[in-house]
Amino acid sequence: MKAAPLPTQKRIALVAHDGRKDDLLEWVQYNRATLAQHFLYGTGTTGKIIAENTGLPVKRLISGPLGGDQQIGALIAERNIDILIFFWDPLEQQPHDPDVKALLRIAVVYNIPTASNRSTADFLISSPLMADVYRRMLPDYQRRLREAYEEDDD
Ligand code: PGA
Repeated sequence: MKAAPLPTQKRIALVAHDGRKDDLLEWVQYNRATLAQHFLYGTGTTGKIIAENTGLPVKRLISGPLGGDQQIGALIAERNIDILIFFWDPLEQQPHDPDVKALLRIAVVYNIPTASNRSTADFLISSPLMADVYRRMLPDYQRRLREAYEEDDD
C-alpha cells in the first residue's frame, strides 16, 4: 500500500440524477459554510443549479449523460478529486448507466470518500477529517502495472 494523502482543502465532486437534484441542493444549502472552504466540481446541470442557487463557485463539467460522469472518473484517477457526493436515483433507469457504474467503481479503486445518500453525506461532511489532511492509502498499482509489463517482455 502507498499513501496518497487527501489535502485539507478538499476537491469535492457533486453529481445528482434529475430525481435527486432537489435533495442535493438542499444538502448543499444546509452545509454551505463548510462547503465554501473547499473546491466544488459538478456535472453540467447539477453544477449549474448549485452555483445559481447558492452563489458558491462550482467548476462545471459536461452534463452526466454526455460524458460528465466519465470526466469526474478521470479526475479521480488523476487524483484531482478527493470526495464524491453522488446522489444517484435508485428508482429510475439512466441512459448512461454504464458511466454511473464506472464512476462508482473508480471511486472505490482510488479509495475516496463517497456518499450516495444524504445520511452518508451528513456523516462525511461532519467528520473532523474534512478539515485536515487525510492519509488515504492506495494499493501499489504502479508496481502491479510494472509487473504486468515485465511479464509481457518475457
Ligand atoms: P447532470 O448529470 O448534472 O448534467 O444532470 C448528472 C448525471 O446524470 O450524472
